[in-house]
Amino acid sequence: MTNLRIGHGYDVHRLVEGRPLILGGVTIPHTMGLDGHSDADVLVHAVMDACAGAIGAGDIGGLFPDTDASYLNISSLLLLERVAALLKDKGYGVVNIDVTLIAQRPKVSPYRHEMANNIAQCLGIAVEQVNVKATTEERLGFTGQDLGMAAHAVVLIEKIIV
Ligand SMILES: [Zn+2]
Repeated sequence: MTNLRIGHGYDVHRLVEGRPLILGGVTIPHTMGLDGHSDADVLVHAVMDACAGAIGAGDIGGLFPDTDASYLNISSLLLLERVAALLKDKGYGVVNIDVTLIAQRPKVSPYRHEMANNIAQCLGIAVEQVNVKATTEERLGFTGQDLGMAAHAVVLIEKIIV
C-alpha cells in the first residue's frame, strides 16, 4: 500500500452580467461574473473536487448541496477550509496542487500568485505547493465564446498520520 493518492476535479460555471468575478478567492475586475449558488469560484471548486476525489469523499455537490441555503453566496475559500479539515481528519496532507483555469478573458496572470496564496492558506500548505495557470481555448466552444469558464485541478495527497 502506498501512502499517496491523487484526485482530479473539473468544474464549469456560466458567465452572466451583474455578478462579481471571483477566481481563487480574488475579485477580478471584469464586465461579467460567474453564476452559481455560492460565489461560483470555479477555480476553487475544481480544487475542492480534486481533494474530495483523492480521499474518496465523492464531490462538492454532495458535501455542500446547493439546496442548503447556508451556502448561498458563501465564499468558496470557507468551503475549501472545510475540505482541508476533512483531509486532516482522514490523516492526509496535500503534497501539491496544479489547477488550470480555462477562460477567454480577462487576463488572470497578474492574480495567479494571490490565488495560489489563498488556496495554500486554506489548506495550511506553502504557496510553492500550489500552481495556478490559465489558458484560453482559442475562441472555440463555450469558454472561447465568453459563455462560461471551466477549471481542471489535480491534487496529490500523502498519508501523514499512519
Ligand atoms: Zn462550481
